[in-house]
Amino acid sequence: MAKRKRRVVVTGGAGFLGSHLCDRFIKEGMKVVCLDNLITGSLKNVKHLSKNKDFDFLKHDVSKEIKIKGPVDYVLHFASPASPVDYLKHPIPTLKVGSLGTHNTVGLAKLKKARYLLASTSEIYGDPLEHPQKETYWGHVNPIGPRGVYDEAKRFAEAITLAYHRYHKVDVRIVRIFNTYGPRMNIKDGRVVPNFIYQAMHNKSLTVYGNGRQTRSFCYYSDLIEGIYRLLFSKAVGQPVNIGNPTEFTILQFAKLVLKLSGAKSKIVYKPLPIDDPRQRRPNIGLAKKYLDWTPKVKLEDGLQETIDWFQKNVK
Ligand code: UDP
Repeated sequence: MAKRKRRVVVTGGAGFLGSHLCDRFIKEGMKVVCLDNLITGSLKNVKHLSKNKDFDFLKHDVSKEIKIKGPVDYVLHFASPASPVDYLKHPIPTLKVGSLGTHNTVGLAKLKKARYLLASTSEIYGDPLEHPQKETYWGHVNPIGPRGVYDEAKRFAEAITLAYHRYHKVDVRIVRIFNTYGPRMNIKDGRVVPNFIYQAMHNKSLTVYGNGRQTRSFCYYSDLIEGIYRLLFSKAVGQPVNIGNPTEFTILQFAKLVLKLSGAKSKIVYKPLPIDDPRQRRPNIGLAKKYLDWTPKVKLEDGLQETIDWFQKNVK
């Protein structure tokens, strides 16, 4: 009898990163069950997979009980609003998907004896006092500020994931994702990459928040997906792993790069800095290098050019 194809459940599978993961698993010859309630994800992101017999889409809120028939080998929990604007718009669903949604998805992995991978975040580190951020840093998070709904939900998610590992012996992986960009980001999600590209495309002023000296380190989606893929199939590392690009830019430098690559003549205007906006962010990727032999390959100029081209072609 032919060997059964491996089967993976991806929550948030119609989102930016979730949909790229679905593509990767299909390409690797696996079966994919994509779960999404579409509050921030979009069916457009998985439309090209809809006729594939190895791809199933279920519209479902994973904060509620999940029932999947048949075998499951891997569960990846990527469902959550992920931009500050979105999680401020949906504070309760953000808290629920990080807490109840993680409970349900890690429970599904336990039931199916599947390997579990949690999408965590650099927001775990809050407005970090240690720089660059290593996985051993416990962070500097305001639990009751507007970003707390995301940060604390993800901190809880990491805690319950490791509790299921220790208590129930579920085989787990945790990736802490740093700022990532690329095709299929929602142009309206309010994050700096789509915002600046949209503004440049429409000859509007680029809105730099604060003085623009805060830093971020941007990773192209293809590098990130490769890192996650390697983590999923790696030997257990026993702790969260940062995946991101360690090349750091100020937001003002980033705005100037968007203007240069897009050829836009837009001005730069300054707007108030959002509450608890982290002043600096850059991953230490020593663990990913050591355990996954992973480093990002795509330079910001190249990834950004591809992203601008994609937005120009696909988004009005
Ligand atoms: N930002 C900005 N202008 C915008 C959108 C964002 O200056 O139109 C800044 C924001 O204040 C933050 C950085 O860009 O310092 C990255 O913001 P983003 O929302 O992309 O994600 P974050 O890294 O804060 O989660």
